[in-house]
Amino acid sequence: MTATEKPTTFDSLDPRTGDVVASYPVHTADDIAFVVARAREAADWWVELGFDGRKEQLTRWKGVITRRIHQLAQIVHDETGKPHGDALLEASLGIDHLAYAASHAKKVLGPKRVSPGLLMANQAATVRYHPLGVVGVIGPWNYPVFTPMGSIAYALAAGNAVVFKPSEYTPGVGAWLASTFEEAVGRPVLQVVTGLGPTGAALCTSGVDKIAFTGSTATGKRVMAACAETLTPVVIEAGGKDAFLVDADADLDAAADAAAWGSFANAGQTCVGVERIYVHRDVYDPFLAKLVAKAEALTAYDADDAQIGPITMPSQLNIIRRHIEDAIARGGRAVLGGPDAVGERWVQPTVLVDVPEDSVAVTEETFGPTVTVAKVASMDEAVELANATRYGLAATVFSKRRGVELADRIRSGMAAVNGIITFAGVPGLPFGGVGESGFGRIHGPDGLREFTYAKSITRQRIKPLLALTSFTRTEAAEKQLAQIMTLLHGRGTTIGPK
Ligand code: NDP
Repeated sequence: MTATEKPTTFDSLDPRTGDVVASYPVHTADDIAFVVARAREAADWWVELGFDGRKEQLTRWKGVITRRIHQLAQIVHDETGKPHGDALLEASLGIDHLAYAASHAKKVLGPKRVSPGLLMANQAATVRYHPLGVVGVIGPWNYPVFTPMGSIAYALAAGNAVVFKPSEYTPGVGAWLASTFEEAVGRPVLQVVTGLGPTGAALCTSGVDKIAFTGSTATGKRVMAACAETLTPVVIEAGGKDAFLVDADADLDAAADAAAWGSFANAGQTCVGVERIYVHRDVYDPFLAKLVAKAEALTAYDADDAQIGPITMPSQLNIIRRHIEDAIARGGRAVLGGPDAVGERWVQPTVLVDVPEDSVAVTEETFGPTVTVAKVASMDEAVELANATRYGLAATVFSKRRGVELADRIRSGMAAVNGIITFAGVPGLPFGGVGESGFGRIHGPDGLREFTYAKSITRQRIKPLLALTSFTRTEAAEKQLAQIMTLLHGRGTTIGPK
């Protein structure tokens, strides 16, 4: 290969050792054009199957994945380094979403009658949801099954073909999903393209009918800019800086347990992971002591049964180190861990306190097993600080009396009360953020509709009583219209002519 030639393959690496797991092709824009054309053909067949036929095919695929779930979990483990049990959990949640999407598509997207209202009372009005065609799904590496499945399953169930570009860190997971689909369904309705960032960029401009992107906010902005060129619609599931609130009446043992899981599971590489904790001053000291005790019992190291795995993407180590160092340089303290907790591949749990709210450890997504804990005088202050962010993905509240009220006041797409990340496991609930955490929704009925366009159809049942949309309209009809409008909408006003 000369210096100007581009590599045609790339390696997926085991983040624990740096060893090559497997090599995959770098797909070019030409390759993607071919794959998208194949997807269009397959989409025609897929649409013809109807909701029931697609449900049958998706159920067959679900069966194959479920029977081989340990094989899938092993690939996730090999490519991300996450503990096998965590890989199994995310695969299970992904399967649950596939089951939900397959079995709810007909009910959610089938034709629905709509009240025509008084002015169009002679019409039968219906809305139906048509598939878009071919959906491009671009996924991250941190939950390489669960996250893309939230788009793939819903797009497929809605009647679309899918071209999936997995992260360059987890191409094997993407390839496994596509090959089991091929085995179960036998048609290229789900295909995978592999490569680095430029492959994702090429998918954005390939003429697909929508891009479902999950990844960092910075890449999400690039995806949206690329899609703007062709007015390709996008759903953006981006990063977060999620807050965790602890009220004075909270169950502190449960709160500390949930905070530890939310902050340190998957080595903190979770979009809806806990990154900031705000605790009522009355319970700050006992909560902090319990959290630190929980965190002290966790160690990140190289073993299949370790509770915390390595940092999957080596470049993230510098970001984590920078956030910890900045917090400490600005007056914060590490009550557990600290800069030395950042090793060559593993980061030990780190709990930071007294960190200024404008430090990068509080304002930017860290994506590591670190968390800041701050004392607040009231839960109003906690809500205010939780909302002082450009992100808005999810939040957690521990409170006996005011949990739902506080959760509702936080500007985020999702929230869990007295539990942790539970919303992600409820297939019927929409998943997505606000602000720089993105827009659009996957999962649930909203997630099915996200991959369709609404089509409104009216059908005349009987002749109109008033011919309003005709040049034969009479003055009498116009008078009657004005009378009807006054009757319907003119009451209760105190301004304007009587
Ligand atoms: P990235 O933004 O780095 O990458 C996401 C995907 O985009 C990858 O497949 C990547 O390919 C691809 N990509 C890179 N450049 C481009 C481009 N110019 N055009 C199109 N696609 C491109 O995110 P990570 O993979 O590092 O994932 C971690 C991030 O994802 C975190 O910020 C996390 O919060 C977020 N996330 C959000 C979730 C949510 O639901 N809101 C869920 C899970 C994660 P390649 O890997 O080859 O570079």
